[in-house]
Amino acid sequence: MAVTEAGCDLTYCKMRGIVAVLTAFIKERKMGLNDFIQKLVSTPHICQHVEVNNFLKIDENQNEEDEDGGPMCLNPRSSLAEDFQTKPCDFDYLKIIGKGSFGKVLLARHKETAKYYAVKVLQKKIILKKKEQKHIMAERSVLMKNIKHPFLVGLHYCFQTADKLYFVLDYVNGGELFYHLQRERIFLEPRARFYAAEIASALGYLHSLHIVYRDLKPENILLDSQGHIVLTDFGLCKEGLEPNGTTTTFCGTPEYLAPEVLQKQAYDRTVDWWCLGSVLYEMLYGLPPFYSRNTAEMYNNILHKAPVLKPNVSNAGRELLEGLLQKDCTKRLGARDDFLELKYHSFFSPINWDDLMARKITPPFIPSVSGPTDLRHFDPEFTHLPVSSSLCSDTVMVTSSLKEAAGAFPGFSYGPPEEHSFM
Ligand code: AMP
Repeated sequence: MAVTEAGCDLTYCKMRGIVAVLTAFIKERKMGLNDFIQKLVSTPHICQHVEVNNFLKIDENQNEEDEDGGPMCLNPRSSLAEDFQTKPCDFDYLKIIGKGSFGKVLLARHKETAKYYAVKVLQKKIILKKKEQKHIMAERSVLMKNIKHPFLVGLHYCFQTADKLYFVLDYVNGGELFYHLQRERIFLEPRARFYAAEIASALGYLHSLHIVYRDLKPENILLDSQGHIVLTDFGLCKEGLEPNGTTTTFCGTPEYLAPEVLQKQAYDRTVDWWCLGSVLYEMLYGLPPFYSRNTAEMYNNILHKAPVLKPNVSNAGRELLEGLLQKDCTKRLGARDDFLELKYHSFFSPINWDDLMARKITPPFIPSVSGPTDLRHFDPEFTHLPVSSSLCSDTVMVTSSLKEAAGAFPGFSYGPPEEHSFM
């Protein structure tokens, strides 16, 4: 039977999807068991039951190296450490490299292996106040599902203390795409094409896992030290959206909001193609497509104005932008066959997608970095801030709000088995 190229890709994508779903399933089961054990240990009278006690002691001998030792019922810390050994003090926190809505991102070095990571530290209090637990758990869950895609940030560990959540991520130090775009105002077409292609392949991969990214914008698009794209910040992702599934939560960044999101209509994975259109437009023209200083006017432009496509961009580029920035999401490029429709668009004809996925295409720009501690591409506004000593401390005053925070994220911690000892 003849297999078309597109058919091959689809099968490959599906295979990756199946592997990812299975891996996530096993991890979720592990977390489920972890949650179940936590519930058991937090209920003293159940804990004292002889069978439960025996069950909880099953691993006692295997856990000889556990610093706390003893059955879990007797170990109050284990409910926070969630039975994974990684903890804040395993790292030296060197510099603040970014800030998000709930906390900071720090450059950190693992004390034992001397490896560098970006550690995202979120304040539980702020998350609870804004009622954003769901988004944060979604971010964790998406990061866990994303088994090594070349253009998505990798999660190594997550753990929590009474007042903070920690995500240990790949450290990506080529700077935000936004930072480079601001310095250069616009990118020439081949460079914009390269970034758009890497981003599109990452979005297509997320869609194949039924995940909609939703918040694509230059600040969330980083460059690694070789100049490849890395997407971070999965806090706004929507999981479990089937190809034709829709959702209505209003979120995203004003400049890049798709019309259907602005109008609070149900939306689907095609919002990501709108956002890619906005980012590509900004790379080629220097400003977001419907930009106005006046937010109301910008919203009006998004809803009712056609994007201005000046002829300094090629026909193929303008045609692609028109397709992606189509206000009617059912007619938008990608509405039918998702990533495949972009992949075979003439704008991307110079791209060899197999080479792209294998990171074999030489990036058009290589950020100059001398090593992991070279922070020249990070905003000094952050890197000059003092690093708080409380990052490596579990001793915090116990207040009633802290008690609430402490138990608000059960099952958050995660440590992939293959990396359990930071090899
Ligand atoms: P976020 O809270 O994920 O939006 O991150 C805030 C900022 O921290 C980003 O805009 C980046 O500048 C920086 N950042 C986030 N993740 C990483 C990472 N893995 N490596 C380096 N910098 C990061």
